[in-house]
Order: sequence, then C-alpha cells, then structure tokens
Amino acid sequence: MKIHFELLELRQKERRITSEILNKLQEMEDSRQYLEMGHPSLFDYLVRGLGYSEATAYQRQACVRLAKEVPEIKQKIDQGTLSLTAVTKAFKHLRTKPLEEKRKVLKSLENKSSKEVKCMFFEPMKPLKVQKTEYVDKVLLRLELTHEQNQKLEKLKALKSHKYNIESLLVHLIEKELKSYESIRIKPSKANEIAAFKKSKSKNPRQISKFLRNDVLEAAGYKCQHPGCDSNHFLQIDHIVPVRRGGDQRRSNLQVLCANHNQRKG
Ligand SMILES: [Zn+2]
Repeated sequence: MKIHFELLELRQKERRITSEILNKLQEMEDSRQYLEMGHPSLFDYLVRGLGYSEATAYQRQACVRLAKEVPEIKQKIDQGTLSLTAVTKAFKHLRTKPLEEKRKVLKSLENKSSKEVKCMFFEPMKPLKVQKTEYVDKVLLRLELTHEQNQKLEKLKALKSHKYNIESLLVHLIEKELKSYESIRIKPSKANEIAAFKKSKSKNPRQISKFLRNDVLEAAGYKCQHPGCDSNHFLQIDHIVPVRRGGDQRRSNLQVLCANHNQRKG
C-alpha cells in the first residue's frame, strides 16, 4: 500500500500549504496591498489576481475573515479537524453573532462532514424567488429554488423520461395549463352567462370558478379595467359590489383589477 502512504503524505502537505496560503492572505488583507494592484476587494484579488474559482475564493475569504477573529481555526484547518466548507458556512451564518457564539459554534463543527454541517445550519423553506428583466425581444427570468424544490423538478423531468430540459419543461407546463382553461372557454351570451352563474354557484360568493375567471379575464383583454390603467401584473377578479355589501359572483358583478387598484378599492 505504498501509494496510500504517498497520498497520505501529500494530503498532509496540502493542508500545510492551505494554512500557509491563509496566513499570507491574512497579511494581504491586513495591508490591503491588493488595492494598489487595482483590485477593489480581497475576493476580486483571489479571483482575478490568483486565478481561484469564485466558489473557492469565497471560501478563502471567509477563512481569512473568520480567522482574524478566531485565530485558532487556522490550526484546526491545518490539522484537518475543521473543513473549509464548515468555516465558510459558519462565516455566512455567524457574521453578526458575538465572538463567544462564533467560538462555540466553530468548536461544534469540528470533525463534522459537509452534510452534517449543512444540517446544522438548516434554513427554513423559502418561497420561490423570481427575478424578471424585460428586454425588447425577450424576458429574462431568474428563478431561485430550494434544493427540495429542485429535487421535485428533477423528479418531474425523470417521470417525463427526460424528454424536456428545464426550459422546455416550463414552456410545456405553461401550454398545458393554458389549454386546460381554453377547453372551458365560452361564447359570451345571456344564456351562457346564466349557465355560467349556475355552474359557478357555490356557497361562498368569493369563490369564482375557473370558467368564470376565464371569461372575465378574456373579456378584459387580460388587463386591469380601472380607467386609465392597463397593467397586466397580478391581475385579480374583483366584485364590483363588494361581497360584504351583498355582491355575489354573478358575471355582471365581476371585473378585472390589478393588485394595486384592487387594494386601493379596499
Ligand atoms: Zn390597475
């Protein structure tokens, strides 16, 4: 098992070098010499000046910043009891915490695997985050998913025999969903209105059937019907005579308002 011992030796060297680099980076950070070299931050210096990937640069920077406050972590990294992943996670979550808490948490992270560390910093489920940028010829959507949501997406892709990539799957789902509304589309006529009302008649006048919602939105051209407004964002079906004043979900009592106008109406 000569090769194993050779690797063990190299691994030790690797740790030593990592801690040497961290020491030097600490000097660099303290003297801020990277500023003179045209780098606005240590992070930028790590990426553009030393050729680290952004992920590794972030790890290095986290170690340097945290080691400034808790110097003993360098030795722990050196010995291999504290992983760079653990330090990076700790840095992100403990930034504003008092020093004593940082020490305590870092101590508890020793000899933990990346997975264990991740569990310790479990973040509660966040809602979907979407960033939308509109250009003349296209709309750019940036979608942030939790790992759990992403797993569901991957599962759906697998169930669809990987016929779709994420983009085409999303387009397919949109088309499918829209079609399900189109199939219940009606020609607006008095008879149909009555039928629609009967069909949608539920005990709760706030509940508007797909059927009616579809009709109201289509008639409004998928725009807010408040005079002068043609917003197509966050459209809501509004009861012209409010439910609390006896208004019901009759077709003639329904209109489309954007969220802002609906809120203003109160
Ligand atoms: Zn509006």
